[in-house]
Amino acid sequence: MKTLVYIDHFKGEVQPASWEALGLAKKFGTAGAVLFGSNLAGLVKTAFEFGADEVLLADDPGLADYRAEAYASTFSALANAQKPDLLLLPTTSRTRELAAMMAIDLNTGVLVDVTALDKDGDRFIATRPIYEGKLNEKTVCSSKPLLVTLRARAFPRPVQDASKGGNATKIEAKAVSPTSVEGYDVAEATVSVTDAGVIVSGGRGVSNNPSLTPPSGMDEKQAEIWRAQQGFKLIGDLASVLGGAVGASRAAVDGGYIPYAHQVGQTGKVVSPDLYIAAGISGAIQHIVGIRTAKLVVAINKDADAPIFKVARYGVVDDLFQVVPALTAAFRKKLGK
Ligand SMILES: Cc1cc2nc3c(=O)[nH]c(=O)nc-3n(C[C@H](O)[C@H](O)[C@H](O)COP(=O)(O)OP(=O)(O)OC[C@H]3O[C@@H](n4cnc5c(N)ncnc54)[C@H](O)[C@@H]3O)c2cc1C
Repeated sequence: MKTLVYIDHFKGEVQPASWEALGLAKKFGTAGAVLFGSNLAGLVKTAFEFGADEVLLADDPGLADYRAEAYASTFSALANAQKPDLLLLPTTSRTRELAAMMAIDLNTGVLVDVTALDKDGDRFIATRPIYEGKLNEKTVCSSKPLLVTLRARAFPRPVQDASKGGNATKIEAKAVSPTSVEGYDVAEATVSVTDAGVIVSGGRGVSNNPSLTPPSGMDEKQAEIWRAQQGFKLIGDLASVLGGAVGASRAAVDGGYIPYAHQVGQTGKVVSPDLYIAAGISGAIQHIVGIRTAKLVVAINKDADAPIFKVARYGVVDDLFQVVPALTAAFRKKLGK
């Protein structure tokens, strides 16, 4: 059985879930890693190191920037020529668009944000969360090639073997597109909660430290944001000791405490860390849908009735401004940091 795996990257920085997709493909048979862009020699070697049987490379200045039309045309032409059984992509903003366009080009079905994929004879059975993660749906798709995007961190990452390498097979780039990219602006600091193994998240409660006196001259809203930012420093300290990322509830983002890139939940990022610590977050359904696939949830909240405790394995009913620094100090000692 043959699978083509799309290696999603931005200027050579790969979305790690691409390697998870490669590992899954190897479980089913042979795996070809598909790389589009310009000057990608380094990534070719990495793809072999993560287990690709072959690397199919469209290295063309016209593909230097992701544009859906060019990428979908190139990938669809490759799929038509190679006739794979399965096309795997990591779930990202780009691949949601790319997979949808390819499904039209290839007249086939697409399953997005899949968390498990099994084979039963010739059929693939895909599992994906529906109704905001309350149910897991099992879907069988009969069209071929099946297009599937995989949720980050839902599948194991293969072990990288630096001794491996090989030569890429060049494929034709269909780089003609009605759009071109003129440049990029960084909208806000980049943070990757999607790929993080540990996330420490703060909510509105992070602003609730009345013992802090804001600098004089601030109005009420400015004082609230200043307090929250002091609170998020404590959240950041704990995340940093644990080698993790900082997440946030929408209330914290809407309150101006922290940029949107940190938001977890229905209108933020869906995350699957090994450990998710929620501090000062009540646990509204729109937040919970973002953490349903977290392996271990720990909640810190003053309110023993907060809904977050229903999804937490461990809960601390106390003031986060006491608990979070105490946890940071304890982990620092334990981990020798
Ligand atoms: C369409 C839609 C989409 C949405 N999408 C999202 C989303 O993607 N992500 C998201 O998070 N929300 C989302 N929301 C908002 C969601 O409904 C909640 O309003 C939000 O999650 C609440 O954030 P919070 O828990 O930080 O704040 P609150 O609900 O105000 O909770 C604050 C918590 O902090 C606790 N607390 C206060 N002080 C302390 C202290 N000192 N120590 C310990 N605990 C303390 C309180 O007990 C309380 O439980 C969405 C809403 C809608 C309608």
